[in-house]
Amino acid sequence: MNPVASTSALNLARKLYEAGIRNEPVLKAVANTPREQFLDPALGHKAYENTALPIGQGQTISQPYIVARMTEILLQDNPLKVLEIGTGSGYQAAILAQLVPQLCTVERIKSLQIQARQRLKRLDLHNISFKYGDGWQGWPSKGPYDAIMVTAAASSIPEALLAQLADGGVLVIPVGGETQQLLKVTRIAGKYSSEVIEMVRFVPLVNGELA
Ligand code: SAH
Repeated sequence: MNPVASTSALNLARKLYEAGIRNEPVLKAVANTPREQFLDPALGHKAYENTALPIGQGQTISQPYIVARMTEILLQDNPLKVLEIGTGSGYQAAILAQLVPQLCTVERIKSLQIQARQRLKRLDLHNISFKYGDGWQGWPSKGPYDAIMVTAAASSIPEALLAQLADGGVLVIPVGGETQQLLKVTRIAGKYSSEVIEMVRFVPLVNGELA
């Protein structure tokens, strides 16, 4: 991707630094990513505020602080192949695709997936594979993954995602109800251990039919 580095994106990266994000590649990716392109033009003026915003279909683009926080946790062991659940606007995928060699992303709402795919192509990000499907099932045929990030709130940790994690791999996932605990689950020698990162608020990881 060409460095965009608009003043607004750079200022957003500065705000995230002040909020405690210290991973330089993550801050650079935020500074290089035109978040307004992931939003309806009517919301463009809010694109560089550190807030979640609606993207249609009752879904949201996550708060930039949370995008950066989850990304820095996920990058800790330099993953090569990463799975994202909940493509949504494609913004989180744009950040990840600048930082890892291979990204796979799953979305259950077709119209959001189509838009995200177009945006990411326009930004010259070509290391992303898209699946229209149910994130509870992951994407088994492309696994195992060195890291998995779920960007919607799960009522429990999906078994399929644990199974698709490579040994030494990390799963970052919000688990709970109205508010959730952001968990970092690590797989070591076939065993899983989990750590609470902080409290978060995501839209639900829907259980059921594709939309
Ligand atoms: N990463 C996105 C966040 C979007 S919000 C971004 O940067 O914009 C969460 C997304 O998860 C929504 O697009 C929603 O449709 C999707 N989602 C919810 N349940 C899902 C499921 N079971 N499988 C796949 N995607 C799901």
